[in-house]
Amino acid sequence: MRLSRYFLPVLKEEPSEAQIVSHRLMLRAGMIKQQAAGIYSWLPFGLKVLRRIEQIVHEEQIRAGHIPMLMPTLQPADLWRESKRYEAYGPEMLRVKDRHSRDLLYGPTNEEMITDIFRAHVSTYKELPLTLYHIQWKFRDEIRPRFGVMRGREFYMKDGYNFDLDKDSALHAYNRHFVSYLRTYERLGLKAIPMRADSGPIGGDNTHEFLVLADTGESEVYYDRAVTDIQLGTRQIDYESQAQCQSIVSEFTSLYARTDETHSVSEFSAIPMERQQRARGIEVGQIFYFGTKYSEPMGAVVQNANGQAVPVHMGSHGIGVSRLVGAIIEASHDEKGIIWPEGVTPFHCGIVNLKQGDDATDKTCNWIYARSRQFGLEPLYDDRQERAGAKFATSDLIGLPWCITVSPRGLNSGVVELTCRKTSNRENLSVDAVIERLSRIYRAHIPSQIATA
Ligand code: ATP
Ligand code: MG
Repeated sequence: MRLSRYFLPVLKEEPSEAQIVSHRLMLRAGMIKQQAAGIYSWLPFGLKVLRRIEQIVHEEQIRAGHIPMLMPTLQPADLWRESKRYEAYGPEMLRVKDRHSRDLLYGPTNEEMITDIFRAHVSTYKELPLTLYHIQWKFRDEIRPRFGVMRGREFYMKDGYNFDLDKDSALHAYNRHFVSYLRTYERLGLKAIPMRADSGPIGGDNTHEFLVLADTGESEVYYDRAVTDIQLGTRQIDYESQAQCQSIVSEFTSLYARTDETHSVSEFSAIPMERQQRARGIEVGQIFYFGTKYSEPMGAVVQNANGQAVPVHMGSHGIGVSRLVGAIIEASHDEKGIIWPEGVTPFHCGIVNLKQGDDATDKTCNWIYARSRQFGLEPLYDDRQERAGAKFATSDLIGLPWCITVSPRGLNSGVVELTCRKTSNRENLSVDAVIERLSRIYRAHIPSQIATA
């Protein structure tokens, strides 16, 4: 993309309405525009990040054997009357009437609807296990929407639902979600710690939240510092293997890590003093096993091998896709702006032309632009008639991990400059070497899309 033809309405002034850094930077970098309290338009640059996160979430869910589908945002109230949640949900639910005075609601979650789909089509254990998921906009009329997309009223969420014949199989589904979530967050460049949580009004007795540590987080958390050293890394995972999934879950849950609702002072104080950590965190996902809470009242039953009709065991599993955009920025920025992790960056690199209109720099920039695209990279070329200072300020603000600066002086010595946004490290490289470097870096993140040099 050429910046002169793009739509990137960056703000020079500090937006006064933003209380936390991610909200401020998302507004300043032209990623979002508020349309009403807690309701945002995603401008092109913001949408690209949202889509990258969504893509990674899809890939990891599909890898775990979960099946994508799409349910509507509007739901009939009658389904929620069956589970008795229509009244219980309270003022967070946005209720609407259609022209025939029928009650609808803008879905805050989808347990009822997915259970309805299941009972309409599945009647035998032979079709189990089954996990369906979608990524769809949700609406919760939060009493205090704030922090931009972190606590919106309309927000984008991945929610998945498992259907299993018995508890044992449903706990394997729970573990698959646990592991696939760890992988997802690691690919997003985040450290998200699974913590034992409280099941709240949704019910059930088995639940973990995944939290990204940040001072601006809304949850208070307590953990053993050693838990932050565990990583999934590149290990091969067989999601069919109950034993392997269980052993990974055990590894991550053997150390103390809890939100304040489940915190136990006595267990916490048993941890060696120097490892006791109290901090704040952003909830970026949560998984639940809740058994037959919905299948029983809604009649989602299957015939088991003995021909008996039994209610299925279920769980639901959510990832806050739009909240993650803010959470990633909270975890990765400096005083100049955003620092995108390579896995989610909206463009792979910037190209800054320090002398727009100069024959040699223009030609080189155009060559790098075309060549990097041939390799599957997506560059953002700052071809505006702006001074160097303004171009660098934009570049730092929008935070692409790599920037190639092309100047007449460099070209005289046959090099361009490659800058790493995170470390500020600079290197002089030939144009061929720069493309080779970047394609090598991104091949680790999007192997199927990046060509080999
Ligand atoms: P919270 O405690 O933050 O209100 P929740 O526990 O009610 O969230 P879940 O029902 O667990 O939310 O939804 C799954 C995920 O959706 C959460 O882990 C979070 O990342 C995201 N999410 C929930 N509410 C919002 C919101 N108002 N704005 C943005 N993302 C949200
Ligand atoms: Mg939650």
